[in-house]
Amino acid sequence: MEVKVRFFDYPRQFREKEKEFMDIIRETFSRGSYILGQEVERFEQEFASFIGARHALAVGNCTDGLLLCLYALGIGRGDEVVTVSHTFVATVEVIVAVGAKPVFVDIGDDHNMDVDKVTGVLSANTKAIMPVQLNGRVCSNMDALVELADERGLFMIEDAAQSVGAKFKGKGAGTFGIAGCFSFYPAKLLGAFGDAGAIVTDDDDLADKLRMMRNHGRSADGDIKHWGMNSRMDSVHAAILIYKLGFIGAMIRRRREIAGLYHEGLSGIPCIKLPPPPVEGGDHFDVFQNYEIEAEGRDELRKFCEENGVETALPWGGKGVHQFEALGFGGVKLPRTEEFFEKALMLPLYPELSDEQVAYVVDVVNRFYA
Ligand SMILES: *Cc1c(COP(=O)(O)O)cnc(C)c1O
Repeated sequence: MEVKVRFFDYPRQFREKEKEFMDIIRETFSRGSYILGQEVERFEQEFASFIGARHALAVGNCTDGLLLCLYALGIGRGDEVVTVSHTFVATVEVIVAVGAKPVFVDIGDDHNMDVDKVTGVLSANTKAIMPVQLNGRVCSNMDALVELADERGLFMIEDAAQSVGAKFKGKGAGTFGIAGCFSFYPAKLLGAFGDAGAIVTDDDDLADKLRMMRNHGRSADGDIKHWGMNSRMDSVHAAILIYKLGFIGAMIRRRREIAGLYHEGLSGIPCIKLPPPPVEGGDHFDVFQNYEIEAEGRDELRKFCEENGVETALPWGGKGVHQFEALGFGGVKLPRTEEFFEKALMLPLYPELSDEQVAYVVDVVNRFYA
């Protein structure tokens, strides 16, 4: 059967607004603006204001952003950083890259860091906590995590790669700790046409330092003040992201609408566990970067979806970071995370989906369990 609902439709993202994008690309390139420049500065201001942070620093991608934060805060050999295994390998990779040790904590019912379990994994060497605001939802109990980090004098760096615009008690994802990092990878909610990312922080000194470190540690007058790296944003990505920020509210609204349709259409099936639905006026404002369900008979359901033209995905190939043998976390046991990955399935969710397509997915899943 032909594909009726793609998991993500890359060409469509461009085609929907092809003329606007081509105008932006032509305008930017014809001025000879390729790296950093006025577009990047303007994007940084607009993005910081959208997130509710004092500063935003545009970087090459979110992974670099996380790496730069750890590097700038002096986290390295002998230090431990607490994070989750239910995340993209990038979160953990950067901890290892600076020479520190990742320490995992299990997930809770919201599929994010179980804040109640964090105290149990802290040691005298813990320097930072890296919560991951996965699937467009801030961890439950974020205030308790902030309090714990403050009490113990730990840095909190949020991996908010998937949570542009998400909020908890009115506060934006990425603004709870010393810094937060976002991804503009094409499939992300605010996607560029290539790699791009940003760091947000309210700390003026850290912002200055990161601004230099992303550009080889160079200050505006060319003096080298720090060790750094090359992680600059391309001007064309900044120009496109400025344009897309102009209608990000509509994109988020549509994502929440689709999540609502899934919730309505699937909540009668006892064999699947759905993520929390979008609510108005509650503690959580979720932006539904992904729609991740837990399903009995997941592999058969996935096959049935495929046979009926619905593409689904396993989060990161179906494994937590600690379950990839080559990474050497053999002794680590995270029961809830491991159980989760046996049932986890991602359904298509992006603003370009039509109501008919969503209804079709709902119908296919219902037919499977009927
Ligand atoms: C996408 C993603 C990243 C990496 O972002 P890049 O911009 O591709 O480097 C990191 N963490 C999570 C949770 C992600 O989803």
